[in-house]
Amino acid sequence: MNKESISGLILAGGRGTRMGHVDKGLQPFGGTTMVAHVLARLEPQVATLAINANRNLDTYAACGVPVWPDDTPDYAGPLAGLQAGLRRCATTYLLTAPCDSPFLPADLAERLLDGLRAIDADLAVAVTEENGRRQVHPVFCLLKAGLEPVLSAYLDGGGRRMDGWYPQIRVTEVLFDDADAFRNINTLDELRDLDPARVPRLADVVSCLSAYDPDALSVRDAQRIIRDFVAPVRATEMVALRAALGRVLAADIVSPIDVPAHDNSAMDGFALRGTDLPADAPARLRVIGTAYAGRPFDASPQPGECVRIMTGAVMPAGCDSVVPQEFVSVDGDTMTIAPGTIRPGDNRRLAGEDLKAGSAALRSGKIVRPADLGLLASLGVAEVPVQRRLRVAFFSTGDELRSIGQPLDEGCVYDSNRYTIYGMLQRLGCDLIDMGVVRDDPQALEQALRDACENADAIITSGGVSVGAADYTKQIMARLGDVTFWKIGMRPGRPLAFGRITSNGRSAFLFGLPGNPVAVMVSFYFFARDALLRMMGAEAPLELVRARSAATIRKKPGRTEYQRGILARGADGQPTVTITGSQGSGILRSMSEANCMVVLHDGQGTVQAGELVDVLLFEGLI
Ligand code: AMP
Ligand code: MG
Repeated sequence: MNKESISGLILAGGRGTRMGHVDKGLQPFGGTTMVAHVLARLEPQVATLAINANRNLDTYAACGVPVWPDDTPDYAGPLAGLQAGLRRCATTYLLTAPCDSPFLPADLAERLLDGLRAIDADLAVAVTEENGRRQVHPVFCLLKAGLEPVLSAYLDGGGRRMDGWYPQIRVTEVLFDDADAFRNINTLDELRDLDPARVPRLADVVSCLSAYDPDALSVRDAQRIIRDFVAPVRATEMVALRAALGRVLAADIVSPIDVPAHDNSAMDGFALRGTDLPADAPARLRVIGTAYAGRPFDASPQPGECVRIMTGAVMPAGCDSVVPQEFVSVDGDTMTIAPGTIRPGDNRRLAGEDLKAGSAALRSGKIVRPADLGLLASLGVAEVPVQRRLRVAFFSTGDELRSIGQPLDEGCVYDSNRYTIYGMLQRLGCDLIDMGVVRDDPQALEQALRDACENADAIITSGGVSVGAADYTKQIMARLGDVTFWKIGMRPGRPLAFGRITSNGRSAFLFGLPGNPVAVMVSFYFFARDALLRMMGAEAPLELVRARSAATIRKKPGRTEYQRGILARGADGQPTVTITGSQGSGILRSMSEANCMVVLHDGQGTVQAGELVDVLLFEGLI
């Protein structure tokens, strides 16, 4: 290839609107900046390089190549960058690539040039095909430098579309088979997610465990790997106070005011000076007025005087104590208190006692509950920053599954997992993408996983990961990303697939839950729930409570068992848990009857009646 005939131009002149107006090319990536990655990828492919940028020109220039701003004003888009490049191009051809495509193909110039020469075109543009969808990448193009007048005429006429001037020139499309190489990074979130310096690999995470055996993993180790592997989604939004209910706070909320704002009375009674209370004789004070809540008494009582005061009213100047009205006698404007009725300082709420101005009222990561709404309102906060909702796609797998409304053919069952999963995700406050039932068919599964991955932050599947499942599941999941298959020392819910898959430049965490209806719930609660909350940026660890077992529960040490239970008060008023009948992992009815799950840990053996066990309550769980 004749690289001497090609100049490279990196398009970095955009406003970075989708990144919150940051300068995209200068964002940190893989230890340097995005633009440095693109430069390094292009450098071996061309004779000279330049950057088109409209801001931070000096910083770009520090990359060691010329920096050319647009000639056309007002951020006219990538075509204006192309124009600036063409005007200064000293070679036959100009090759362009955007500053946010750090994975661009190493043979981009060569393939485009071959394509251009093959039909003597003016411009060769890259296209990719994925899942039958053809995608043109107009910012990855190679074109003849002599096209500048045509392009300038198009721009002068107000044209801005990257392909709007194609009808006037001879264009050829060059098909690349590696779609991932063209992925560009549009949001800071994506940037962090894709940054190879930041994305952990499962292999790195499991290497922290002293003994790792995917075929005999303890519940605790599986939970730990998942926790270390998933990362919070960083996008946030401002919502009106009421809409924050159930959402996760994305920042500490700092109190703008003292709460309460003034010293005030905790009782209906009389505000007085503590120094007016003799230790051993009744005090007689003159009542000089009344302080109401919201209507302060604005004179200052002198020694020997007091003010009738209502709960919440501002303490009159000089008063530091309140005697409740039921402890005094009043005669005309004289109030009498027996000695020792109160101590100085009693029944007064101090300004800033609940919260001092400038202190954190609520911490980032908190899930907003009704009390928090009230607290925020008490600070006068109208809008709060919350994490954006997590998008979770879910589907069931299995040829035997029928959806509600379909006839139940011989040997088939209705898909119930999708409904339990829906319920659990909904309560967690996720945005849901219900993808229905996916057949046991490699192509259907791959397509579903790719679709899910391109649209969601996390994917939950049920079925198809057990030992008897076809191997293609593993192959497909492995091909799409970093996924591991575990056999966990637990019952129910032994098999679990976990990892992260990528399609078309988008990635999502994957939880392949087992198919059995109870196993799916147990795996969700003990593995997926925590991970999803972590992705949501929430701090909400599972809280187990202790209760007495009503009867003997048989168990062998060496695995964790989850038994469905009913927690109630025993005859003596103490919390007592009774296991619901049969514990088969397909029996959803006993799950529905239960109000809790008894957690029998690895090391535990048979539990005797009356012994204490750990219990996870369903209500309040999510
Ligand atoms: P699998 O993990 O695919 O081998 O499924 C294990 C068992 O769970 C089989 O009896 C399946 O029929 C059943 N099962 C799988 N998925 C579902 C579902 N979505 N709804 C109800 N039962 C299911
Ligand atoms: Mg199946």
